[in-house]
Amino acid sequence: MPKIVKNTTFPGLFDLLAPHSCRGCGRIGDPLCNCCKNYIISHHQNLCPICHASNSIGRCVNCHQLPPIFIVGHRSDLIGQLVHDFKFHSVRDLARPLAEILNAVLPPTQGPTVIVPLPTITSHIRERGFSHTHLITKHFAKLRQDCQTSNLLTRARNTVQVGSSREKRLSQARTAYTLTDDSLINPSTTYILFDDVWTTGASLQSASALLQKAGAKNIIIAVLALSQ
Ligand SMILES: [Zn+2]
Ligand SMILES: [Zn+2]
Repeated sequence: MPKIVKNTTFPGLFDLLAPHSCRGCGRIGDPLCNCCKNYIISHHQNLCPICHASNSIGRCVNCHQLPPIFIVGHRSDLIGQLVHDFKFHSVRDLARPLAEILNAVLPPTQGPTVIVPLPTITSHIRERGFSHTHLITKHFAKLRQDCQTSNLLTRARNTVQVGSSREKRLSQARTAYTLTDDSLINPSTTYILFDDVWTTGASLQSASALLQKAGAKNIIIAVLALSQ
């Protein structure tokens, strides 16, 4: 089993001074070697983020009112470390392997598919120099036929949720997003809503409700790491 190699240096410095090393096994080369990438994919076991029951089809028998949800793994696993380094240490080369993992874990979709990243707070994009969710969806769209990425969602507010109480975060999340254009929604298109981490799930659930209200019939929620 790959051990997590922690990057404790200043953001980005490690990758400027030294060649990449695999976050899973430490091998010099890529930030995630093929071996560790395949390990994550083959050990993936889908679970419901609400009640933690395992399922293989994204649909939970207990929480059936939600769209299918696919989560790669726990934040404390290697996938969580990869998300952390990608986001906070700006290891952009992780975007492609993270998209490949997501592609392997998500079921095939029928017909036109749109992957929609949950928009990041503007100040975070400025600090990091890129939108991490958008970069992953860009790579993901290249891996599937008839799939494109879209900025269908925008943030209604650019406030930070960290430090707020759970109730406050939940109510903020319910009004955090708006659709750029309702008329863009096509009932025959599959929409994959993507976020890097599931914390309360409120953001993803409110985004999913927005798409549904605008006429989307096929929605899948895709997340890399479960923070619980
Ligand atoms: Zn490795
Ligand atoms: Zn459940």
